[in-house]
Amino acid sequence: MCGVFGIFGGPGEVNAASLTYMGLYALQHRGQESAGMAVSDGDSLQLHKEMGLTANVFDEEIINRLPGSLAIGHVRYSTTGESSIINAQPLLAHCSKGAVALAHNGNLTNAQELRRELELGGSVFQTTTDSEVVINLIARFGKDDLQTATIRAAKRLRGSYALVILARDKLIGLRDPLGIRPLCLGRLADGAAGRTKAYILASESCALSNLGAEFLREVEPGEMVVIDQAGLRSIKFASRRRQAFCVFEYIYFARPDTFLAGKNVHEVRKAIGAVLAGEAPVEADVVIPAPDSGTSAAMGFAAATGIPFEIGLIKNRYVGRTFIQPAQEARELGVRIKLNPVESVIRGRRVVVIDDSIVRGTTSATMVRLLREAGAREVHLYIASPPYLHPCYYGIDTSQAGELVAATHTPAEIRDLVGADTLHYLSLQGLLRAVGTPGQKLCAACFNGKYPVPVQQEVNLPEASLA
Ligand code: SF4
Repeated sequence: MCGVFGIFGGPGEVNAASLTYMGLYALQHRGQESAGMAVSDGDSLQLHKEMGLTANVFDEEIINRLPGSLAIGHVRYSTTGESSIINAQPLLAHCSKGAVALAHNGNLTNAQELRRELELGGSVFQTTTDSEVVINLIARFGKDDLQTATIRAAKRLRGSYALVILARDKLIGLRDPLGIRPLCLGRLADGAAGRTKAYILASESCALSNLGAEFLREVEPGEMVVIDQAGLRSIKFASRRRQAFCVFEYIYFARPDTFLAGKNVHEVRKAIGAVLAGEAPVEADVVIPAPDSGTSAAMGFAAATGIPFEIGLIKNRYVGRTFIQPAQEARELGVRIKLNPVESVIRGRRVVVIDDSIVRGTTSATMVRLLREAGAREVHLYIASPPYLHPCYYGIDTSQAGELVAATHTPAEIRDLVGADTLHYLSLQGLLRAVGTPGQKLCAACFNGKYPVPVQQEVNLPEASLA
């Protein structure tokens, strides 16, 4: 899970660096390890990236040093490759097509095989990310223009990718044939005339609304959009056999104000909460969310049951999302720092807590303990997704099955492990009903083990060069 952003404006129409900065701000929840952008002034590309949050990586002086009306940006959460500056994106390469920058959200399941092949052909790698394979593949088609080379490269890729690519005078966006990760297209209009000032690509529509841009549509699975002075062109580089949009985007990753496949994430999460309430009725005094990703589902649960909705846990917003920090110690420490109970809501009450998921179980156990310490009479843990049983190989940092508590414990054991009075998971059927998208258009592999793209085991080996 990373966030990507791209903007193409006519010369002098927009300050691409400052709009990319705002776009990355809106996508910050998708990755907090590093942030970066590459900007073109029409002649050359300039790059700035560092470890840390967007606000720490960029300031006014840096933005002012990045003039131009074309840019791409990236916020990173590592899935392959260590969490270090060498793996921060965008990646910038100089090849027969001039300077080319690339930012990637997703995970290539054949990255290691491709990297071996490229290395044998003489390619040199400077990072340990799978994304560098893509830029090397593009560079390898030396006689083709960027557009053709990108299509030829895309045909070699397996796994998930939402890519934004920047050249001196061109912005390209593409999505893998299954559409596992999201990418949408928007337009920034001149207020008075409605003339298009810039086209924007972003992982989530919340980055468009942040800029006052209009949502046009999603980039389709297997589609590449090319934006240059001639306008916007769409090219289908892969036929659509089936789709496999990540259902977890609805459950956890995406921001509630985002629209995915025409559905508002907040509304989907409320529907999930209502279905969950119907599947396992409970007698309780108050419904509280695990902040903040359980909020929408808890609202739906409370509305369906008539049990009052309250805020019972306060999140310190200055601590990152625990799930996406890579080291276990950081996760545990993060949970303790970030959560505080509201005692007046909790004391003496039978409390229903709605959480989006249980991946490792760390957060749930700490949360239940905090609620008991605050005087909860009963704690009923309701999970707005099915048991997370299988590792994700398409861009989520849960690639070791042993880390998934549901893969090695029954729900009853997990209930005891986290210290709740009861524990209820949403059924997969209930999830699909709430999302309202046919199952064959979604990836739900972490719940049902049905991987839409064959997975190479070596992507998971710690000693692998891409680990
Ligand atoms: S395995 Fe799960 S988290 Fe990974 S892409 Fe599929 S639904 Fe999303």
